[in-house]
Amino acid sequence: MKIGFIGLGNMGAPMAETLAKAGHHVTGYDMATVTVNGVSTARTAAEACDGAEVVIMMLPNGDILRAVAAQVIPAMQSGAVLLDCSTVDVDSARAVADDAVAAGLLALDAPVSGGIGGAADGTLTFMVGGTEKAYKIALPLFEIMGRKSVLCGPSGNGQAAKICNNMILGATMIATCEAFALADKLGLDRQSMFDVVSTSSGNSWSMSTYCPAPGIGPNSPSDNDYTPGFAADLMLKDLRLSQQAAAACDADTPMGLAAMELYRDFVETEGGTGRDFSAMLPRFEARGRS
Ligand code: NAD
Repeated sequence: MKIGFIGLGNMGAPMAETLAKAGHHVTGYDMATVTVNGVSTARTAAEACDGAEVVIMMLPNGDILRAVAAQVIPAMQSGAVLLDCSTVDVDSARAVADDAVAAGLLALDAPVSGGIGGAADGTLTFMVGGTEKAYKIALPLFEIMGRKSVLCGPSGNGQAAKICNNMILGATMIATCEAFALADKLGLDRQSMFDVVSTSSGNSWSMSTYCPAPGIGPNSPSDNDYTPGFAADLMLKDLRLSQQAAAACDADTPMGLAAMELYRDFVETEGGTGRDFSAMLPRFEARGRS
């Protein structure tokens, strides 16, 4: 397939490289000077779309997505698929999809989970919004870049699934970390805490797969001095998106709000920026109730 790829950052570069390695013709563009193995470099976003059957975007936020889409949509050939893998607000995802469809294109929003490691080894999960027709065209690409893709409904529903998932993740990570800090103060050792909770009703992915306590459970960023992994800054971004969406549709999400506020304080005033999101454990460990 002939593929355009806009946004060759931490995620986009390895995704584009994986597609090129699988034999696709990938032309990339990034506003920074980036070279990616096997990927030809275009001078503009529009040039990267020339003759492309699918144009993938992997960009930082909704405003940048809207600006790039405005350049890319007129440059795409009719019937091609505009595939946005960035994590952005639901409104931007739906607005870009509407513009693409109005211009005779197919559109998918397909944010990912799996992080930089998943992008490098082709094991991402894609949460997809859009039509069955567009999904079928993009499916072979999802299968190369990822291990799983789920079509969640019309445009914007991929972003909706992503922010709901990450709202649960943020809240369960905080609950797991504060419970470890409480267990410490009660004199319960961390290995016993892990052995009980990971096989009991308090278990979650945050405990059993990504345990925030160093030296306990499977290898995770806590074993590497909380080097991300999944940075607290990115968790804060996703929690803000979920609160923005909740406000827009009048959904009551008190746990998501509390998680957003805790990660906001952690990132903005407590030295959490650049640390893994599981570094909430040393944060709670160092504090008392007030
Ligand atoms: P990044 O900042 O490393 O990459 C974004 C790239 O977009 C940069 O290279 C930047 O130069 C480029 N860019 C910005 N504006 C542009 C423009 N106008 N035209 C062309 N290029 C432009 O970010 P990332 O970590 O690769 O994340 C990309 C997206 O994936 C984000 O939406 C993020 O929330 C999401 N995401 C990231 C992770 C992760 O672990 N890094 C995990 C899941 C989802």
